[in-house]
Amino acid sequence: MRPRKVPLRKCVACQEMMPKKELIRVVRTPDEEVLIDLTGKKSGRGAYLCGKLSCFKLAKKSKALDRALKQPVGDDIYDQLEADFIKIEDEFLASKELADE
Ligand SMILES: [Zn+2]
Repeated sequence: MRPRKVPLRKCVACQEMMPKKELIRVVRTPDEEVLIDLTGKKSGRGAYLCGKLSCFKLAKKSKALDRALKQPVGDDIYDQLEADFIKIEDEFLASKELADE
């Protein structure tokens, strides 16, 4: 049997290709809000990050989200996203473990 094709997405910070479910989606909504989209279903332009705080910090430093979302992301937005990121990191890792079973 051939393995099922897993959709891959690139982390905007470290440029690594990863299965979509291993990544956290950041979305720019049609209202130009930038937020973390855990459902992966919000409409808007999306950017993907590994579920690692180190990658988020890298993205913040290099302004990778600005480029990926084609919109300037202010420092306050990055700070807000970072706070959200820390909050969901554990939840995200836990759900990943569940999904692997
Ligand atoms: Zn990464």
